[in-house]
Amino acid sequence: MIIGVPQEVKNNEFRVGLTPGNVSGLCRQGHAVLVQRGAGAQIGLSDESYRIAGATLINSAAEVYSKAEMVVKVKEPQAQECAMLREDQILFTYLHLAPDPMQTKALISSGASCIAYETVTGQGGGLPLLAPMSEVAGRMAIQAAAAHLEKTNGGLGILMAGVPGVSAAKVVILGAGVVGRNALQMATGMGADVCIFDRDIERLRQIDFLYGNRVRTYYSDSLLIEQELMAADVVIGAVLLPGAAAPKLVSAELIRKMKTGAVVVDVAIDQGGCFETSKPTTHADPTFLVDGVVHYCVANMPGAVARTSTFALTNATYPFVEALANQGMMRALSTNYHLRDGLSVHRGVLTSEPVAQAQSLSF
Ligand code: NAD
Repeated sequence: MIIGVPQEVKNNEFRVGLTPGNVSGLCRQGHAVLVQRGAGAQIGLSDESYRIAGATLINSAAEVYSKAEMVVKVKEPQAQECAMLREDQILFTYLHLAPDPMQTKALISSGASCIAYETVTGQGGGLPLLAPMSEVAGRMAIQAAAAHLEKTNGGLGILMAGVPGVSAAKVVILGAGVVGRNALQMATGMGADVCIFDRDIERLRQIDFLYGNRVRTYYSDSLLIEQELMAADVVIGAVLLPGAAAPKLVSAELIRKMKTGAVVVDVAIDQGGCFETSKPTTHADPTFLVDGVVHYCVANMPGAVARTSTFALTNATYPFVEALANQGMMRALSTNYHLRDGLSVHRGVLTSEPVAQAQSLSF
């Protein structure tokens, strides 16, 4: 199969769809990989490293799209990219179609078969192509919080770990899923005083088993949340109700009662956020203040660590790329229903029921 890897065009997006290691694996199995010149240059993956791995370097995105049988990307295709897709081509990337009728329409009219990373399912449940980015964001959340606790960044002037004789920062984590557990690992690793909330008792049990009484686990109840937030230096928002907007666990009134200079990191901002006062921010201007509380609400946190995120993402996507290339799309989809769960648009037809529902389209 001829596989194409264009350079990402979305603002401030430096990740790339395949690494040189992936290219080498595909070429050794007889596939041809076309990589747009400069696709990985911003994250230290040079054109030369792709060439040595066996890729053919291509000057323009248009040429990649016109020659490739399968296009492997990271972000949802922008309007100019949708226009380059063609009938019978496979597109494998994040799509996030539900809130995006324009992209849905463009993909349907392209005639391509579009498989969304975020809806491919895993053997043990869950969304394995979304999980690596939640791991990155969960770990980054504590890094971001530690930096913004510093006085010059608007914070309380507290060192996350404290020092002998001075207590560590109090960190509250709302949600014990992938983001929450990764934030927990970093916060305990830095020596913070941590508690974590969830509604899933099994998740709290696992945390209790792993951390013992180094971490307080709480069933998510509004009175307990209020009690912990009033004493907190850092709050991480990491809740998710699949397919729905994030529940607002923290009201504007409760933010007003928090310490001036405390930091909230709303990782769930991509689903609307779990603090009533949150609004999406960017890496260029990541924070704002509400009643003296620093809000960090960056909607694409993994983009800041694009090199780590590229390897984390491709470690998860590569086995599916290999299956699509080796078996062809129809066979790969019919033998792996987890991959089939990712098929959102197929040759001019919308094949995702949740997207159809979200956009009131017939299905
Ligand atoms: P997950 O499904 O693994 O975990 C979510 C957890 O929230 C679950 O354990 C669930 O039981 C819990 N929960 C639901 N309602 C709750 C409530 N009322 N109180 C307490 N806990 C509750 O999801 P995840 O992968 O950890 O992702 C969390 C959020 O982070 C998602 O919205 C995801 O899209 C987002 N995310 C954002 C970024 C970013 O860059 N901002 C990056 C990755 C993920």
